[in-house]
Amino acid sequence: MAESLRQRLKTRLALSGPMTVADYMSEALANPRHGYYRHRDPLGTQGDFITAPEISQVFGELIGAWLAERWQALGSPEKVLLVELGPGRGTLMADALRATRSIAGFHAAIDLHLVEINETLKQMQREAIGKYVAPHWHDGFASLPEDAPLLLVANEFFDALPIRQLQRTTQDWRERLVSLQGETLRFALAPGPSPLSALLSLTLQANAGAIAEISLPARALARDIGERIARRRGAALIVDYGYASPRLGDSLQAVAQHKVADPLAAPGEADLSAHVDFAALAQSAQSARAMSYGPTTQGEFLQALGIHQRLAALTQRADATQAAVLEGGVQRLIAPRQMGTLFKVLALTDLQSPAPAGFAAIEE
Ligand code: SAH
Repeated sequence: MAESLRQRLKTRLALSGPMTVADYMSEALANPRHGYYRHRDPLGTQGDFITAPEISQVFGELIGAWLAERWQALGSPEKVLLVELGPGRGTLMADALRATRSIAGFHAAIDLHLVEINETLKQMQREAIGKYVAPHWHDGFASLPEDAPLLLVANEFFDALPIRQLQRTTQDWRERLVSLQGETLRFALAPGPSPLSALLSLTLQANAGAIAEISLPARALARDIGERIARRRGAALIVDYGYASPRLGDSLQAVAQHKVADPLAAPGEADLSAHVDFAALAQSAQSARAMSYGPTTQGEFLQALGIHQRLAALTQRADATQAAVLEGGVQRLIAPRQMGTLFKVLALTDLQSPAPAGFAAIEE
């Protein structure tokens, strides 16, 4: 499989010249036949990487409580679209639904929609989630129904959306491209200045050689979510690794079997991702008249939602070994040197809803 996607890309580069980093990412991740996310299960210790819901059940449980609170803040409507972008193995949603079973009327109101392109994972999602609520699947945000308020959650989804990269030269910003040099894929710079530089934050002070990143699909999606929430009411919670204010740096990263790899070496065989520009997401949603909160750090968010109390309740019923596993998992989620600081949480709501839980410290 790897060879054939590499081969395909080499042929395309030879025929039509260099491609943007974004085009390369979309091919490597989502090419219908060979894309990394199309068929395999990338998660878990046997896979390439591990995510918060796979580390601890508490993650999904607290997000479930957050979503249920948002439903109540909407006045407990009879119908609500519950949407998850990129649900992986369905663990977060299963934990969220299990934790909210006893909230009167909530499950009955849920119309559950999952955005997923991976057939293997869809099957796992069906098994994990189907016993609580029957899901519907979509390839993207655009095909979701619009007949009710929206509650949306996305964990480690936005980092997979393609980025463009610009590099500062002594004269101007040039787009960084993927090109074919001999038999090898390599980065190169476009010969002229890039008009995309108009989208860069004015606060960025760049020396020659600096790299800036922009994800147009991430901005468009945040805008669509914001627009939907403004029009139909609702809330969204976006969790990912990334940065709170604009910054420079090359964050394109390939990971295979829990190790960092060369992003150009084996397209389709390694996960490719980039850090999420949360300021750009917040701004895009605000431009569509949604309200944004945060980003705050994952550690602060989970502690504000009561992760320590939840852990204490669980360990009371557990034996010593189980308790150690539960405590270890929670530490990994919140410790600053682990996922607590690098991972950020952004919430979007409509303008009428009260502030959501977890963002109290930074409310204006
Ligand atoms: N949220 C899960 C999985 C994160 S991995 C967790 O936290 O464990 C990224 C998820 O997004 C996978 O389910 C992957 O198949 C899905 N995905 C990646 N790119 C996608 C795209 N362009 N459209 C829809 N789903 C996508």
